[in-house]
Amino acid sequence: MQGFEAIGLQGFSVTIPHKQAIMPLLSEVSPVAQAIGAVNTVWRTEQGWSGTNTDVEGFLAPLRRMQRDWSQSTAVILGNGGAARAVVAGCADLGCRQIQVVGRNSEKLQGFLQSWQRSPIADLLSVHAWESLPKLLPAAALLVNTTPIGMHPQEQATPLTASEIQTLAAGTIAYDLIYTPRPTLFLQQAQQQGAIALDGLEMLVQQGATALQLWLQQPAPVDVMRQSLLDYLDRKF
Ligand code: NAP
Repeated sequence: MQGFEAIGLQGFSVTIPHKQAIMPLLSEVSPVAQAIGAVNTVWRTEQGWSGTNTDVEGFLAPLRRMQRDWSQSTAVILGNGGAARAVVAGCADLGCRQIQVVGRNSEKLQGFLQSWQRSPIADLLSVHAWESLPKLLPAAALLVNTTPIGMHPQEQATPLTASEIQTLAAGTIAYDLIYTPRPTLFLQQAQQQGAIALDGLEMLVQQGATALQLWLQQPAPVDVMRQSLLDYLDRKF
């Protein structure tokens, strides 16, 4: 950090495993990053280094374009890791009525729930075992996969069984944070069931664009960024 300061760096991205460790080194942490407990973008101010988390904006960008009223909606989130934290904050920001997080490890789930206790988001949040999915899925307006199940090279894997997928209501938004492959098997199956599918590419593009805007204080070339990413993924996968 001192080296970055010495060379006049404007800012930088932070990723696993430093997203939490960076926080005590910053002079300011945005409310959203504090709520999530992780920083992925740092930039220089006169007071020192400031940090925020742009994953929430990235996650929300494709949902905001839908211009829906979410106030009566239930979001079901598969997984309780780092990305799930940004998704929970995003669903609260959308105005969802309920946020149900589903995980496979009850201790981690309870820890996840506890970690939100000092936030108003706690009132919306509940955690559930994987076995509860058949009960939860039919009421989900938004279903988000934040697990790596189905990610390259495990393209044949899917977080939901065929019978669980069949319980989705038509018009449910199925959102997979995975962007390799695009679409995942989960999204293909959900779409066959009448769901609207969103993959993780736009989240990745938009979290980067939001960071670039913070560093450069000018609009980011989002279309160029998206195309570069698509070209890269096409070459690599
Ligand atoms: P993470 O912190 O490791 O969390 C992964 C979560 O998935 C954990 O809760 C884990 O459960 C759960 N999980 C893993 N395998 C599972 C299985 N077989 N069955 C049930 N649950 C399972 O990872 P992350 O950083 O949140 O990332 C998760 C995914 O999101 C990755 O695929 C990543 O590429 C993607 N992502 C995409 C973007 C984007 O911009 N599009 C941004 C961030 C992340 P346990 O807690 O029980 O281990």
